[in-house]
Amino acid sequence: MSNGQELQQIVDAVRQRQRFVVSSHSRPDGDSIGSQLAFAYAARALGKDVTVINRDAAPPPLMAFPGVPSIHLADQVSGDFDAAVIMECGDIHRPGVAGLERYFVINIDHHPGNLGYGAINWFDESAAACGEMVFDLVNALGVPLSLEIATHIYLAILTDTGSFHYSSISPRTFDICRQLLEVGVDPVAVARSVYDSNNMGRLKLFGAVLSAMQIDPSGRIAIVYLDHEMARSAGGTYEDTEGLINLPLTVKEIQSVVFFKQNEGDEYRVSMRSKGEIDIGAVAKEFGGGGHKNAAGCTVTGPIDNLQKVFLEKIEQAIDGRPAHR
Ligand code: 5GP
Ligand code: MN
Repeated sequence: MSNGQELQQIVDAVRQRQRFVVSSHSRPDGDSIGSQLAFAYAARALGKDVTVINRDAAPPPLMAFPGVPSIHLADQVSGDFDAAVIMECGDIHRPGVAGLERYFVINIDHHPGNLGYGAINWFDESAAACGEMVFDLVNALGVPLSLEIATHIYLAILTDTGSFHYSSISPRTFDICRQLLEVGVDPVAVARSVYDSNNMGRLKLFGAVLSAMQIDPSGRIAIVYLDHEMARSAGGTYEDTEGLINLPLTVKEIQSVVFFKQNEGDEYRVSMRSKGEIDIGAVAKEFGGGGHKNAAGCTVTGPIDNLQKVFLEKIEQAIDGRPAHR
């Protein structure tokens, strides 16, 4: 549940200040973008000046949502702001935007293990999306839900629950969604924009990556791999892989997926997903990353064969240590 004290501190801090910079993690997703923009629209409704800055562009399908094309892309910030609102970030380096730490930092997050780097730190691990917390904040600020605000909160919840698949969902999740629909959010249109806006390169890339997929001997873990060469020859980009990791989970027997994406040379970006009680977030944490029980990631370096072996072992332990998902 929300922590009322921190929420009230944030409300007071927002009321007392005028110029806000809002940032979130690099390689933004639906929850980071939705949370940032829902807050931005709400603060602007109160007459505040709000600048949204991210290091990386939003995934192409999210460009159709209000305000997303106007997000500033920068790896540093130096403007005259009274506060920096940082969403969805366990530590102050996750945005990849230098200079945020110089401001009065308001840290709003739902990831376990948040370092509490802000002047105000509000985290709620029980929130299925950071967008659920922003919903509370918008209410506490007394701003009526506009269609833009509601759409962004719905986007945050839809994407961060893996389209209502993850165990982080609570009755509250649906209560919020009910209220969002009541002010006019069109869940069909949002889902179409997010999930049915593929280009052909993306489909070909999915085909190439899934063809090369491996399954561990126990048949429970899918290992997915992508390097720059594969992406080039399929005619897709790394951005096109958004959501790919969820496909192997649609196989009944598959309990977990690990996706290795080559950054440079021997450095790999690792994304993991799991079903039910299997805690993949704990695995990511062991490798210096983080995330949630059913969705987590990290960045690692080493020979790929060795990395795959090590992650398989850890994931097998995570599966065997927990009741199997049925
Ligand atoms: P994805 O696999 O979609 O990149 O990330 C899944 C979840 O894990 C997200 O909630 C994301 O914030 C978290 N996550 C992914 N990579 C990292 C990382 O390197 N560090 C931390 N702390 N969290 C991560
Ligand atoms: Mn999130």
